[in-house]
Amino acid sequence: MSNYFELLKTIPDPEIPVIDIVELGIVRGVNILENGVVEVVITPTYSACPAMFNIEEDIVSLFNKNKIPVKVTTQMFPVWTTEWLTEEAREKLRNYGIVPPEKGHDENHLKVPIRCPRCNSTHTRMISRFGSTLCKASYQCNDCLEPFDYFKCH
Ligand SMILES: [Zn+2]
Repeated sequence: MSNYFELLKTIPDPEIPVIDIVELGIVRGVNILENGVVEVVITPTYSACPAMFNIEEDIVSLFNKNKIPVKVTTQMFPVWTTEWLTEEAREKLRNYGIVPPEKGHDENHLKVPIRCPRCNSTHTRMISRFGSTLCKASYQCNDCLEPFDYFKCH
């Protein structure tokens, strides 16, 4: 079973190439069906993310390439939350210059100061609710003036 996960870990997130879809928490599980077909259950990070369609296609073509019969099932509930991001994924996001969501953050995350990934200052402000993609908001640090993205998808 774990080698299917290893295979899935070779698929990067379409928006943030430094993390893979397993680290992102999109892959909910892998089941072997009675007819030998491998069922990969995924939960979209964000229903409006057009990238989700690519992920399904990527999984199918990867398994086809490895001659493994596959079926991708999309499970909408429970809804994906940023809580599913692994610690490893959070670290990679930080290194990539995207501030990962703090655990326990919700829609009102703006009440909690967002830390600058460059100088660690909490003196930051939101420039735009939508950054380079729907899942990110644009921020700027007031101290070092570094612009950065905050990953707000949930
Ligand atoms: Zn800064």
